[in-house]
Amino acid sequence: MEQSIESYIKNLVRDVIGQNLGGLELQCDRQTYVIANWKMNKDLNETAEFFQKINSSHDVSVVICPPTQLLYPTQLFIKQSGKPIGLGGQNVHWADKGAYTGETSGSMLTDVGCEYVIIGHSERRQYSFEDDELVNKKVQQALKSGLTPIICIGETLGQKSAMQTEQVLYKQIIGALKDIDTAHFILAYEPVWAIGTGQSATAELAQETHAYIRSILRQLMGQKAEGISILYGGSANERNAAEYSAMPDIDGVLVGGASLNAHVFDVIINAFAKGEQNS
Ligand code: PEP
Repeated sequence: MEQSIESYIKNLVRDVIGQNLGGLELQCDRQTYVIANWKMNKDLNETAEFFQKINSSHDVSVVICPPTQLLYPTQLFIKQSGKPIGLGGQNVHWADKGAYTGETSGSMLTDVGCEYVIIGHSERRQYSFEDDELVNKKVQQALKSGLTPIICIGETLGQKSAMQTEQVLYKQIIGALKDIDTAHFILAYEPVWAIGTGQSATAELAQETHAYIRSILRQLMGQKAEGISILYGGSANERNAAEYSAMPDIDGVLVGGASLNAHVFDVIINAFAKGEQNS
């Protein structure tokens, strides 16, 4: 809870500074994140074991997004470990409460200690038919609940081959951020062709795309765009993390498969922590 108030104040200050200095050049320090998306993996024992092994770091914001049934025990494991690790959900419903079997509301997530929530992951867009309009409703609900949305965007292989990447990202960003007037969110660029395939985007390609994403954010919200963290996701691992961390517009990673092993995840965290120390 304390962390939640702290991050709320931090974001409020960032918003106010962004508004007051709207037209001026402002060097904004962006937060670096290393976020684990465990998807539908791990049981209670495996989770306990993970938190015994993980070291984490004070130089980057580390967040774990376990499956819903593990949120509450994970909060306890984090507390017990005494490590600076945040907790996030993998999905949130757009409504406050009601007859939505199997869904999880924003207040349910904050109730078990979540500060973040992943929204619009390509797997949910694909298997649960989430479109930009629904993603936008979920972003609104997350913000209303005091959660930081981690909004996922990315093109499919077909769209990449048809040279539609920019067009697809533009539509996804405009759709997700409709009527949103705060910079209190994280964007994750996750090319669908790179997720779980081992075919990660090169650091150069990811940087180029992140710079394009930031240019859209500038159009939408001016100077505030400089403070928004844009993460890369898609087969990020212990071997390529350092290359991503060296890029100016890559402010961290959203990690699936490689976040399941505590030692591997630590190597990724350290790659970004070193980048922070050198900047
Ligand atoms: C993800 O699904 O968010 C992801 C990045 O997965 P992976 O790292 O396994 O490609």
